[in-house]
Amino acid sequence: MKIGVLGLQGDFLEHMKMLELIIDKRDITLVKQPSDIPGLDGLIIPGGESTAIGNLMIKRGIDREIIDRSLPIFGTCAGAIILAKDIIGSDQFSLNLMDIQVERNGYGRQRESFETDLEIPLPSPDGRKKLKKFRGVFIRAPIIKSTGEGVEILSALDSDPVLVRQKNLLASTFHPELTDDPDIHRFFLEKVV
Ligand code: GLN
Repeated sequence: MKIGVLGLQGDFLEHMKMLELIIDKRDITLVKQPSDIPGLDGLIIPGGESTAIGNLMIKRGIDREIIDRSLPIFGTCAGAIILAKDIIGSDQFSLNLMDIQVERNGYGRQRESFETDLEIPLPSPDGRKKLKKFRGVFIRAPIIKSTGEGVEILSALDSDPVLVRQKNLLASTFHPELTDDPDIHRFFLEKVV
């Protein structure tokens, strides 16, 4: 299984380190050009600045390559914004793939960055779903304001979805790559890709 991490801007190195805990280093590709994408089974779009990531994607023509291949994608924070079909009050670039409406920096100034425990249903070794406590690291995070019919809300914080899935797309408004727990990455590889 070959997994790419979009390495244009943001915390892509942390995602690569996380993947190294669960798959062979040789199966992880840093994606900087469209030619890095063929052969990938899945792609991670990291947190960072969604406008910067989007602009670089267009400039290098990576957006078309991703859309044309219907790749499984895991977007974290800015990566979730890049996946969204609707970014409130903004006409910035997005891949326009996931039926979610997001508000950038939705937690506002006072709660700009915070950590809290989340409950995430992750498969246990016997295959059944088990609620797992997971440290949610939120950094100028977006809020998912609404979700379309095909979107499954896997975890929420105070009624706001924070981990959602639509077919082969997974998005979190927090940063699992900034913890030392690879379980959400493993979930992406085992159940979404
Ligand atoms: N606030 C950033 C944006 O709107 C996202 C922040 C992050 O990825 N930690 O793009």
